[in-house]
Amino acid sequence: MNEIIEHESKCTECGERITPDEWYTSDDGDLYCAGCYFEKFVSCAQCNKELYKEEQMLNDEGTCYCESCYYDNYTRCEDCDREIDVNTETYYVVKGEHYCRHCVEVK
Ligand SMILES: [Zn+2]
Ligand SMILES: [Zn+2]
Ligand SMILES: [Zn+2]
Repeated sequence: MNEIIEHESKCTECGERITPDEWYTSDDGDLYCAGCYFEKFVSCAQCNKELYKEEQMLNDEGTCYCESCYYDNYTRCEDCDREIDVNTETYYVVKGEHYCRHCVEVK
C-alpha cells in the first residue's frame, strides 16, 4: 500500500509556494522555505537536534548547541563568568560551583 500524503506546498511562515526539493520540514512537520527555516531554526553542533533560535546556547565562538550538549561541553566560572571548556581546560569545583583555574590559583 502506497499512501500518498498530500502536503500543502506553501511555507508556513511566509506563504510562498515551495516544491518538495526546496522545502525544509521542522520537527513539528511544518514546511518552510529555506529562508524562513534558517530564520527560525538552528541545529545543535553536537547532536544535530533542531532548535528554535530562542532556545540555542551559544559558546563564546558562536557555535550553537542545545542546552544539554552545551552543558556537556562547557560551564562558566562562578567568579569571572568566563566560559570553561570542560573537555580541555582544568577547572575547580568548590562547594558545587565551578571556577576557572585562573580564579582559584590567583587567589
Ligand atoms: Zn518562507
Ligand atoms: Zn545537542
Ligand atoms: Zn574565573
